[in-house]
Amino acid sequence: MAEISIHPAVDKGVKPGSPNFSGGTLVCKCASNPVEVNITSQCAHNHVCGCTKCWKPEGALFSQVAVVPRDKLRVSKNAEKLKVADANAAIQRHACTGCGVHMYGRIENTKHPFHGLDFIHTELSKEQGWAPPEFAAFVSSIIESGTPPSQMATIRSRLKELHLEPYDCLSPALMDAIATHVAKALCLAGGGAFSGEVDCRSPQKTRQRTKPTFLVAVD
Ligand SMILES: [Zn+2]
Ligand SMILES: [Zn+2]
Repeated sequence: MAEISIHPAVDKGVKPGSPNFSGGTLVCKCASNPVEVNITSQCAHNHVCGCTKCWKPEGALFSQVAVVPRDKLRVSKNAEKLKVADANAAIQRHACTGCGVHMYGRIENTKHPFHGLDFIHTELSKEQGWAPPEFAAFVSSIIESGTPPSQMATIRSRLKELHLEPYDCLSPALMDAIATHVAKALCLAGGGAFSGEVDCRSPQKTRQRTKPTFLVAVD
């Protein structure tokens, strides 16, 4: 197969971040009057994502996406060009109506485990020093956007070579954070206190437990 482009920001090797980095300005791809988003924080949980909803640059198999606290993000120019790409998605991706680039994704559901965090694509900023991607999420989902299944072994080994461990959902640390949030919510709903143990739920609550919808919505 032709050379694989995971994402332009990692194809030549993942660049380390700077320890004292404190943010930058994301600029969309419009030649005139670009949308600008000011970030006053280093990013966290940067990763490449294979889901079908994240914005990806032309030719890339994955997006590169990280989070910042929502109070550290401000649209500083041409906010009127932004429109939510899919109002039904858990993550409201504010896309530029001129160039299509997603400038930030925000979760308005206060019960969502990632509420309070905005999703950003750090490559939209000229500043160097953003915390680099640490893993690859939703790897199998690239098949849904047209990658032949036969190429997956090569793509997964390329991700490993880049030290971007491939996962078919989020990383274990983030999946644990989501599950902890769910366990806590279920305990509270059952009248118990969350002790860090999931067996504080009543057996009935356990049986009633349904698949959390945000697992799909994170995608
Ligand atoms: Zn634009
Ligand atoms: Zn994604």
